[in-house]
Amino acid sequence: AAASSLALTLSACGQSGEGGSEENKGDAKGSTVGIAMPTKSSERWIADGANVEKHLKDAGYKTKLVYGEDDPDQQVSQIENLITQGVSALIIAAIDNKSLDNVLQQAKDADIPVISYDRLILNSPNVDYYASFDNEKVGQLQGQYIADKLGLADGSKKGPFNVELFAGSNDDNNTKYFFQGAMSVLQPYIDKKQLVVRSGQTKLNQVTTLRWDGGTAQKRMDDLLTAAYKKERVDAVLSPYDGISIGILSALKSDDYGSANKPLPIVTGQDAEVASLKSIKADEQTQTVFKDTRELAKVAGNMVDSLLNDKKPKTNDTETYQNGAKVVPAFLLEPVSVDKTNYQKVVVDSGYVKASDVN
Ligand code: BGC
Repeated sequence: AAASSLALTLSACGQSGEGGSEENKGDAKGSTVGIAMPTKSSERWIADGANVEKHLKDAGYKTKLVYGEDDPDQQVSQIENLITQGVSALIIAAIDNKSLDNVLQQAKDADIPVISYDRLILNSPNVDYYASFDNEKVGQLQGQYIADKLGLADGSKKGPFNVELFAGSNDDNNTKYFFQGAMSVLQPYIDKKQLVVRSGQTKLNQVTTLRWDGGTAQKRMDDLLTAAYKKERVDAVLSPYDGISIGILSALKSDDYGSANKPLPIVTGQDAEVASLKSIKADEQTQTVFKDTRELAKVAGNMVDSLLNDKKPKTNDTETYQNGAKVVPAFLLEPVSVDKTNYQKVVVDSGYVKASDVN
């Protein structure tokens, strides 16, 4: 008993003698974890913030949650503030994956471990772990949905069908994974001319959407329709995110798509946001990819808890995510393709969104 109370006293003084960051680790429980999220303009990040806070609080931590309004400079200063306030760990969903190097060095100097949340932070060695989904798989699910729905995948139709491609923000590391995943399915059909991109815009740098902005996507879709679709129709649009899908659908609807003899194309998406679930229910948006952010919050929270208690966080991928400075060990969750046939079961019955919000 004497020995253990001594250990307790020592660890409460931050002198557990385990080396490294005793001040933080000695009294990990009850310490404050800083959480930096990118924006409140999209539901998913609001849910992420709330879920991470809840999970950490249930585990005995305090939390400070900040949102960066999609402004990289603001996010950097928010993280600086969190460091100054003495947080014990940081969970960061980056706005611009390349702008955090300096601030992460400050975190390192203060012995604060960093979890890269959902989006990998690049070019910094001071990213300890990465919690995310299988991002390539997200894109594959979107691409496969298009190939399946058009009847190309099972050979029941040969095409050619017209498709247009949208990608996410070029400063988000996920963007290239989503696009690669989708193109790994679509490119063979493009090569066989079963899919035709009439705009000719097939390269990632031609199809990105800064800050994932729906209005920007709407404008680009307007332009594509004007430039490349006179009598022709667009049959499918690869969209990486629900907010972008809603923008694309607005452009399509103002061009009379969705009227009796001009059906809407297949439009994919991501995040299972309420507006998109409603749109799917109304036969407008066709698909979305559900990523259970409750699970992601747990993964990230558990990583923090492990690190602060000198345990090794659980990972399931230690190869894929090279950030330019190191391979960041990751835990990746599985995304699920959702459309009209399964949204109720997957997204509503699981309690992710309320039935009354969608119905
Ligand atoms: C996330 C997606 C989200 C997108 C826009 C990405 O980094 O992985 O889930 O749709 O950002 O917020």
